[in-house]
Amino acid sequence: MSVRQKPTQTQPDTITHIYRDYTSLAQRLAVISPISDRFATKTNDVVIDVIKAQDLWHSRALQLADEGWSALAENDTRLYYASRCPVTGIVPATDVRRFCNFRAICPCCYGRLVAETYDRIVRSFEANNLFGRTTAVECRNSRFVASENASALSLKDAFEHGRVWLARKVRSLRARMLGCLYHLCINPAEKGWYIRYRILGIIPDGSEESIRGHLNRYSLVGSVTKRKLAGSVARVLRYPTGLLKAGITAVRAALDAQAGVQTRGYTGRFRSKHAKEQKEIEWSLAGQS
Ligand SMILES: [Zn+2]
Repeated sequence: MSVRQKPTQTQPDTITHIYRDYTSLAQRLAVISPISDRFATKTNDVVIDVIKAQDLWHSRALQLADEGWSALAENDTRLYYASRCPVTGIVPATDVRRFCNFRAICPCCYGRLVAETYDRIVRSFEANNLFGRTTAVECRNSRFVASENASALSLKDAFEHGRVWLARKVRSLRARMLGCLYHLCINPAEKGWYIRYRILGIIPDGSEESIRGHLNRYSLVGSVTKRKLAGSVARVLRYPTGLLKAGITAVRAALDAQAGVQTRGYTGRFRSKHAKEQKEIEWSLAGQS
């Protein structure tokens, strides 16, 4: 079979159960729900949504290769795995396959990073005894860059500008929060791109005054539990669905603008004590490892 031939699609009835733990919930809320525009709870519906996300990515990978996107067009092995990467962690893997590691766009590989992030933050909550007595501060902003007056180069500039702004904002908040996760990404749309800025900070319950005036718009989730944390992490790391649904030119520009940029980080209690571990889990966009 040729590498570019579309693989046989997974049939929903071959998967009979889904995982129901909080890590999988975070993945479903962050990746599967935004793609399918609904939050399914019945096993059959979840399986249908998971397979839909998987099929959208497999088609998109082939499309990116056809359009000459170098990471896929010039590497048949990577294309082979990208066009077959399974969505696991939510449904059991039907067989053991290699992941494609296009972490910026593949719903499976993006979902695995959501899971890693959630697990890491839960471990930090447990180690520091933070459950039930802390408040999550969620800050979600975006900036629109219209395609009519933007070249791919200026999108890259706008993204870099956003990255510097977010790093400064996080630095200024560092002393006021016990721990913080931050994330930025580009969501391609019909007439341009949304650059998204996301911050999830943790403060002691009752200390909301300490951040007033330091963030423009934010929402609070009090008395954080594992379940609430799954929702907060999912909102901050929400998958940019335009990568699967927008026009291919806008998607390529978004992937190129983000390539090689570190788009996620931690402060305070969420930071790893071991620099090596910290380095290993940093995002490397567009699957460049
Ligand atoms: Zn993948």
